[in-house]
Amino acid sequence: VLLGCKAANLDRSVATLLAAARDRSTQENIPLAFALACQHAKLARAAGATKDFPHQFVCDAGLGGLARWLRGSGYQAFWKPELDDAAIIRETQRLAATLITTDTLMMERGVLRDGLVPSVFVPSTLTPEHQLEIVFRELDLTPRESRCMNCGGELCAVEKSAVADRIPPKTARWLDAYFVCAECGQLFWRGTHWQRMQERLARASQQSSTE
Ligand SMILES: [Zn+2]
Repeated sequence: VLLGCKAANLDRSVATLLAAARDRSTQENIPLAFALACQHAKLARAAGATKDFPHQFVCDAGLGGLARWLRGSGYQAFWKPELDDAAIIRETQRLAATLITTDTLMMERGVLRDGLVPSVFVPSTLTPEHQLEIVFRELDLTPRESRCMNCGGELCAVEKSAVADRIPPKTARWLDAYFVCAECGQLFWRGTHWQRMQERLARASQQSSTE
């Protein structure tokens, strides 16, 4: 009887969670999977589940886009798509990082399930931008100084004139600040996509601090 009662309670809380996510999804015109993941992130953070998670990341094979956005938001993110599950977990331990995975089977692995390796699940159906917001919400992160989206290296400001031949003409017309990666030499600028993303992350962290 007790078990039945617990199951009924669980059903009710799942139903409440789903209803809240559905409302949000309609009101804000966002995918239901994203709204649900936001709810989950909020609960995990409120429960303190991610409080001590390291703020550097290993991303699984499906998360190359997320790894780039994490670096662009100032966080180190390791991504080697050729590694298998066991190697990814070893790498996470070696780097004392938090694993981000899209793989529910991976989450079932003992070391993740038992919390020996800190890990965050993000749905593979979401865009990298939405995945990034989930990670920010779940770990209560704020945007930092951008790193190279390719390799995570430090970015150094350069004179526009010194890199003029590497800037697309359309960008050169409205942007004056450019950066070069100290590690790989890649040229970067803060385009409209990057600006929109940083504004959204700043809003998300404001929201979480008032929730
Ligand atoms: Zn680089």
